[in-house]
Amino acid sequence: MGLLWSSSVTIPSSVLIIGSGVFGLSTAYSLCKNPLFDNTSITLVDRQPFPSPDGSSIDTSRIVRPDYASPPYTRLASAAQSLWRTTFAPQHYHENGLCITASGSEEKYVSSSLANVQALGTGKIEVLKNSDDVKRVTGTENASGSAGYINWSSGWVDAEGAMRWLHSKISQLNRVNFLTGTVTKLLINHTTHAVSGAHLQDGRTLTASLTILSAGAWTPSLLDLRGIANATGQVLVYLPITPSEESRLATLPTLLNLSTGLFLIPPSQGLLKIARHGHGYANPTTIPHPESANPSDTITVSLPPHSASHSQSVPQEGESACRAFLSHVYPSLSYTSSSSSRPFTKTRVCWYTDTQTGDFLISYHPKYTGLFVATGGSGHAFKFLPVIGDKIVECVLGNTPEDFRGKWEWPVKRVSEELWEGDGSRGGPIGMVLGEEMAKIESKL
Ligand SMILES: Cc1cc2nc3c(=O)[nH]c(=O)nc-3n(C[C@H](O)[C@H](O)[C@H](O)COP(=O)(O)OP(=O)(O)OC[C@H]3O[C@@H](n4cnc5c(N)ncnc54)[C@H](O)[C@@H]3O)c2cc1C
Repeated sequence: MGLLWSSSVTIPSSVLIIGSGVFGLSTAYSLCKNPLFDNTSITLVDRQPFPSPDGSSIDTSRIVRPDYASPPYTRLASAAQSLWRTTFAPQHYHENGLCITASGSEEKYVSSSLANVQALGTGKIEVLKNSDDVKRVTGTENASGSAGYINWSSGWVDAEGAMRWLHSKISQLNRVNFLTGTVTKLLINHTTHAVSGAHLQDGRTLTASLTILSAGAWTPSLLDLRGIANATGQVLVYLPITPSEESRLATLPTLLNLSTGLFLIPPSQGLLKIARHGHGYANPTTIPHPESANPSDTITVSLPPHSASHSQSVPQEGESACRAFLSHVYPSLSYTSSSSSRPFTKTRVCWYTDTQTGDFLISYHPKYTGLFVATGGSGHAFKFLPVIGDKIVECVLGNTPEDFRGKWEWPVKRVSEELWEGDGSRGGPIGMVLGEEMAKIESKL
């Protein structure tokens, strides 16, 4: 089985990680580097060859900010930033600044976040009192939001580039057995309540003394997480821009309006991305109960659509919201000279794994031995790529970091999703269902 590490934790002789996103890949790297796991075999299985094109961790860009209303995340993000700036894929990190604006209830998040980053003492923060201030610092043609602040010490990262960088680092270590295969079910012994690996769709069975489930927004298809974590779809659109437009925008800060959730990150690879950090779309799906031996037991949970291609078109309401945002902040980019809209060439619904409070879920399962869960990115985990694997391994060893006790651990109770408080950072419409919104497009065709 393995070496006894503490009264409750044994160093596993084999680890199976399910999912090669931020949580799974960073865990694999940290296990490789930790001498306690020198004799542990490590397998990482993903349903897609790396990089998984519809994984949440694979995209042109992700914001890297210590700007959190919750001090533990400010501290952890700041530690991650030190590595982004120096040794962790620094070629993919850009410190352009982040302007956060809000009006209404999201102002509370902004003022707490401002206090937290001021306490860090970076000194590169400016409070914005009106829309002229917002326009001046963001360099946009019109302001989005009339109050907030800019943190010039925040930045963004080429997410796919950084993930590829990490994957190649791990591959060079020759320790991880990377497999492609879709996990259909955990290998659960219903008498002993022990998990000993997973079944794959192609008939293979992978066994391990510790299974780490980090399948992102698909995790609720493999474990009953009702009332604990679910998938919400977020809209993204990409506008192709010319090299001269790209060089004009490349050094400007990210603009995030927390009240609408809409944001705009500096362009890369000829694409300007507009997205919404919102309450998202639910996609209620009825599936066989992942923990039941009886195939006729079912549960209904929000999950990404079955086929990845279904995540490539977005509801009209989402595209219109992004268009309205772009047309307001950069009318010159949104329209052609004949005043028709410049087309978005790529759209996507990207899936958050939301939790009750917006905290990650990094914990042993309370019922099943041999099962550890690392998920619940809640739309903000990417920036932690340089540090989250080490933190996950600390939790595996039974040492949840002091700052995150009571946050990352298994929630004490399941809470009905409409009562989840989140972290207070989400704007825009509430209660949308993907199928209903997509049907509105189809009925117009
Ligand atoms: C639109 C959007 C914008 C975001 N913006 C930011 C941001 O600006 N800053 C920030 O810090 N964070 C941001 N995030 C959040 C961040 O990207 C996520 O929290 C993080 O990438 C989640 O990583 P993950 O490992 O949980 O999931 P994923 O990256 O989705 O990885 C899960 C993996 O599991 C695999 N998998 C799923 N099911 C199975 C199965 N049955 N068998 C085998 N493999 C399986 C998938 O193929 C996938 O590769 C954003 C997220 C989205 C969607």
